[in-house]
Amino acid sequence: MLAADGQIYTGVNIENASYGLTVCAERNAIGQMVGAGQQQITAVAVATNNGVTPCGACRQVLREFASADIPVWLISEDPYTVRQTSLHQLLPDSFDQTQLQ
Ligand SMILES: [Zn+2]
Repeated sequence: MLAADGQIYTGVNIENASYGLTVCAERNAIGQMVGAGQQQITAVAVATNNGVTPCGACRQVLREFASADIPVWLISEDPYTVRQTSLHQLLPDSFDQTQLQ
């Protein structure tokens, strides 16, 4: 993911035999970004072997660190495709931290 500081933060899925403990690449990358002191995502690219979209949990976590209109690039390896969408399209009617105050 591209952060407001211009740096790219990457993540990988960390699978676990107990599925609920798996950490998705998106949340892993956010952890890298926050650890580096950044709080704002400006774009996301998700590269997979089959072009899947981020899971629902990651969509909400992404939304907490990004405006709804940021581009989300979905890259599939086989067949090779690149599709642009947005966080709003993936998570319509989302809420963010401003609505929790
Ligand atoms: Zn996820």
